[in-house]
Amino acid sequence: MISGWLFDAYTLNGNMIFWIKKDNSAATIRVEDKSWNHKIYVASDMFLLKSLIENNEILSMIKEYHFPSRYELITDSKRSQVLELELKDSTYSLKLAKKIEQMGKFGQFRLYNVDILPEQSYFYEHNIFPLMECKVHVSNSKLKWMCNEDNVWSTDYELPLFNNVNLKVFPKVTEGKISRFTDSIASATVQNCDTKDTIHIQGSEIDILYQLVEEIKKINPDFILTEDGDSFTFPYLKYRSEINQVDLILDREGIPLRRSKKDGTSYFAYGRIYFKPSAAKLFGRIHIDTYNSFVLNESGLQGLYELARICRLPLHIASRASIGKCMSSLQFYNAMRNDILIPWKPTLTEHPKSLGDLLTADRGGLIFEPIIGVHENVAELDFVSLYPTIMFKKNISAETVICNCCSHSKLHVPELLNYHICEKRRGIVPISLEILLKKRGIYKDKKNSTTDSKLKKIYDARQTALKWVLVTSFGYLGFNNAKFGRIDAHIAVCAFDRQILLQTIRIAESHGFEILHAIVDSIWIQKKNKDTINKNDYENLKTEIENKTGFPISFEGIYKWIVFVPSKNNTIIPVSNRYFGVFEDGTVKMRGIEARRHDTAEFFSNVQQSILNIMSEANSIREVRVLMPKVRDMFQMHLKLLKNRNVPISDLVLTKRISKNVDEYENRNTVELDALLQLNNTGRSLKAGQILKYVITDYYRKNSRKRSVPFELINSKTGYDAKRYCELLTETCNSVTEPFGLKLIEG
Ligand SMILES: [Zn+2]
Repeated sequence: MISGWLFDAYTLNGNMIFWIKKDNSAATIRVEDKSWNHKIYVASDMFLLKSLIENNEILSMIKEYHFPSRYELITDSKRSQVLELELKDSTYSLKLAKKIEQMGKFGQFRLYNVDILPEQSYFYEHNIFPLMECKVHVSNSKLKWMCNEDNVWSTDYELPLFNNVNLKVFPKVTEGKISRFTDSIASATVQNCDTKDTIHIQGSEIDILYQLVEEIKKINPDFILTEDGDSFTFPYLKYRSEINQVDLILDREGIPLRRSKKDGTSYFAYGRIYFKPSAAKLFGRIHIDTYNSFVLNESGLQGLYELARICRLPLHIASRASIGKCMSSLQFYNAMRNDILIPWKPTLTEHPKSLGDLLTADRGGLIFEPIIGVHENVAELDFVSLYPTIMFKKNISAETVICNCCSHSKLHVPELLNYHICEKRRGIVPISLEILLKKRGIYKDKKNSTTDSKLKKIYDARQTALKWVLVTSFGYLGFNNAKFGRIDAHIAVCAFDRQILLQTIRIAESHGFEILHAIVDSIWIQKKNKDTINKNDYENLKTEIENKTGFPISFEGIYKWIVFVPSKNNTIIPVSNRYFGVFEDGTVKMRGIEARRHDTAEFFSNVQQSILNIMSEANSIREVRVLMPKVRDMFQMHLKLLKNRNVPISDLVLTKRISKNVDEYENRNTVELDALLQLNNTGRSLKAGQILKYVITDYYRKNSRKRSVPFELINSKTGYDAKRYCELLTETCNSVTEPFGLKLIEG
C-alpha cells in the first residue's frame, strides 16, 4: 500500500503510469496499471456492429468487447445498445476509429469517446483526480485507489511541498541576431523557485549537457518551469543533444528528451486567432512553459492545482489547456458518470428557427448604450457570474432546451415562445457548473474572512482560476465545435439575461436613479441631485434587485467621476465597455483604454497611468480640470524624453497578434508587414496567432521595407522614429484628457 498524492499520469507502452508524491519528502513512487485500457464506442445497426468484431484487423487492436447500454446522444431520452471496444493499447484510439469509419458508408458507424485522453478517461472511470491525497493498493499490476476522504469538493485540502526549479538555457548569439538551433549552448542556469539559489552551468557544450542531466537528477524537482520551453528551450536542447550525441534525460522515467511530432498549431477561438506551440512533456515530472500557460499567468500554481483537481486533467495538460478545455473535461466527467457517450465529431444541429425567433435571438445580451462624456457620483453594480448562474438556475444545457421528453413543459424562455426547458432532468452544463459556482463562493468568503495573508492569497488564486472557467463557460455553450455546445442554449441564456437586466433597470429607475450605461451583467447609475442620496439607498436597491430577480449582485462602489469614451473614429458613437474612472477610495478602474490593452507599448501605458494617477486626486470634474496644467507638464516631460531619444527601446516595443500568414496580407504597406518580412528573411516565420513584437524606426519613409524592425533583430544601433512615437504618445494621452477639454499637441 502506497500513500501520498497522485502527481503525474500518462500512458507508456500501452499502459497507464502514475507517480505518487510522498508526504513532504523528495520521494516519488511509480506505479503501473497493466489491467486497464481506454475504451471507445460504436453505434450502428446490430448487424453491422457484429460484422466489426469479426474483422481480424479490428480484433488485433482490441482486448475485449461488450454490448452495454448507453445514451448515444446527450439529447436521447433512452439508452440504446452500443459496441464497447477495449483497446489493447490506450494510444490506438484514433487509429482504430479511423479504420472503423472507413469500413462503413459515410455516417454508418458513429464513433464515441475517441479523442478523450486515456488519462482523462482513467480519472473519470476510477473517480480520481490529480493531486488527490490517496492510498494505492498494487496487486498483479492492477491498482486499487482509495481516496483518504479527499474529494474535489474539498476547499481545505492539503498538498505536499513541491520542489520546483526555473530552467534557463542561453545560446551563443551575436548581438542583433536571432538565436537559432545551430547556435551552440553558452550556459544554463537552474534556480530553486523558493530559495532562489542558482546553479550556473558552464563549460563546453557537451559538458553543459551532461552537467544539466546530473543537476536535475540530483535536485529531483517536481516542476520545471521555463519561459519558452515549448517553443524554444526544449526543442533547442533536444537538437543540441542530438548533435552532441548525448542522451538528455530530464524526466523521472529515464526517457531522453523527445522532439514533438507536431509543429504547433494556429486555432480560432472567441473571434480571434491564437497560436499554440506543441507541448514539451517530461514523464513523472511536470514541465510548465510560463509563456504558454494562461492558467498560470492568471492564478499561479495554486490556481493550476485547483483546476487540475476539479476538471480532472493531468497537470502538464491543465497548465497548457485553454479554459474551454478545462470546462469540457469537467463536462465529459459528468457525462461519463451518467452513461452519456462523448461524440468524436460534433453532431448536434440547430433547431429550426422562425424569422421572429432569429430577430429576437440575434440581439444577444441587452446593451444600454453609455451616455458618453464625464459624470460624477456614479455607482456601479455587477451581477456575480451572471451567465453561468443563469445556466445553473434555469437548467440550461444542450439537452434541456427544447428537450424531446417534455413538450408541455411549463418552463419557458422569455420572449422565445417555442423554447421550453426540460422539467425532468438536470443538464450536463448546470451539473458541471454547480461545483465551480459553489466552490468559488466559498473561496471568496474564506478569502474575506481570513487574516492569514498566505491563506488569503491561496483562496484568491483558486477563486480566480474558477472565475475564468465560469467566464468562458457561456461562449463554450454556443461554440459549434464543443461536444455538448448548442446555439439554442446560448440564445436561451441571452434571453434570460435581457429579462434580468431590463428588470434591474426598472427597479433602479423606481428608486429614482438614472441609468448611464448597462451591459450584459453591469449597470452604472446616478442620482441627479446627489444631496438627496441616503447611505442606505444603494443597499436597499441591491436587496430589491436580488429579491426580485433571484440573482446575486455586488455593489462595486461609487465613482467620484467616470468617463465613458467615444469611438476613436466617430466621436458621437459610444463604445460599450470603454471607460475610466476613480472610486471614492482613489482606486482607478479602466476598461478598453490603452493602459489596459496588451498591445500598447510599455512607455505609453506608463505615461497614461501616471496621468490618471494625477487625475485620481480630484474629487470632481471641476477639480480634474484644475489639475490639467500638472497633466500637461507630465505629458511634456515625456515628450521631451522621446525627442531626446532618452527612452529605452525596449519600452517602445509594440505587439500585435498576427491574424494571417505573411503571404495573405492584402494591405502590403504596413509597418507590421515590414517587421514580419524581415523576420522571414532570417528564417523565423511567424504563423497566424503568434505575437509579433516590433519597433517603428522610420515611419514616413516611402517605398521602404525598413520602416520598422522586429524585436528580435534590435541591436545597439537601432534607433526609434521619435516623430512617430511623439504622435502616438499624444494620441494616447489625449484619450484621457480630451473628455476634460484638454487637447494636447506634439509641439
Ligand atoms: Zn424534458
